[in-house]
Amino acid sequence: MPDDCIFCQIVAGDIPSRTVYEDDTVFAFLDVNPLAPGHTLVIPKDHHETLGDLPDDTAADVFAALHRLAPTVEDAVDADASNVAFNNGEAAGQEVPHVHGHIIPRFEGDGGRPIHAIAGSRPDLSDEELDDIAADIRNAR
Ligand code: 5GP
Ligand code: ZN
Repeated sequence: MPDDCIFCQIVAGDIPSRTVYEDDTVFAFLDVNPLAPGHTLVIPKDHHETLGDLPDDTAADVFAALHRLAPTVEDAVDADASNVAFNNGEAAGQEVPHVHGHIIPRFEGDGGRPIHAIAGSRPDLSDEELDDIAADIRNAR
């Protein structure tokens, strides 16, 4: 683990956190600067920077925890819904370079926006360009 990783230090107990879930591979705790009551971060215990760096089994464990916790968090704060999202890399807004999923409870009329609001200006892509992008992704797997 990198000595300067805040989230590794939280997993190790060197920095306190309001832990809400822990198992062998996953740790979840309240965000210190919440966007909504119940804003929760779900992280692998091992240090990996982005989703693409996660081993398959760890990625599955993180998703399983998100899947279980999203409704639990919503219920705990009486939310109407939640956004579940990763800032995956610095250019996408990731500030802590230890992969983490956000569970952000949402409330009717809270003034927030859907996840579509996070991207920059929308590209104007032709059918051919869309076909090429889909093929590139399909063929790279
Ligand atoms: P990012 O922008 O990297 O996706 O989000 C990082 C999140 O980690 C932010 O929402 C921030 O409030 C939270 N955070 C940063 N440092 C700490 C900390 O020491 N403790 C907790 N609980 N959350 C933190
Ligand atoms: Zn770390």
